[in-house]
Amino acid sequence: MAVDCVFCRIIAGDIPTPFLYHDEEVVAFNDIHPLTPVHVLIVPRRHITSLQEMGPEEAPLIGRMALLAKKLAADKGIAERGYRLVINNGPEGGQVVPHLHLHLLGGKKLR
Ligand code: AMP
Ligand code: ZN
Repeated sequence: MAVDCVFCRIIAGDIPTPFLYHDEEVVAFNDIHPLTPVHVLIVPRRHITSLQEMGPEEAPLIGRMALLAKKLAADKGIAERGYRLVINNGPEGGQVVPHLHLHLLGGKKLR
């Protein structure tokens, strides 16, 4: 856990945040500033700074995160309409929180 990391603090329970899903490896919760009607963040419990820090040993984790996004899209009723998965990486990639996360965006037509 990184003490100054907002997502580590959410995972530790320091910032009360309802989880849409949780298991021993990942959690999912609504983005606090939703860009779309459905905006869920899928976050590994382990503090991994970004996709850039991931190695081949983490391939299963990324796979599970993508499949969880698919399940949450179905739970939210947007699976058939379509949705977008985004991982921002680094400053020019628009990453603000330096703890790996996958955005699930949907519920409206995306450009
Ligand atoms: P990124 O720009 O990819 O790093 O995205 C970080 C996201 O985390 C943004 O969409 C923020 O709105 C979201 N965020 C920041 N703090 C919180 C929080 N306490 N609870 C939920 N989402 C958050
Ligand atoms: Zn963290």
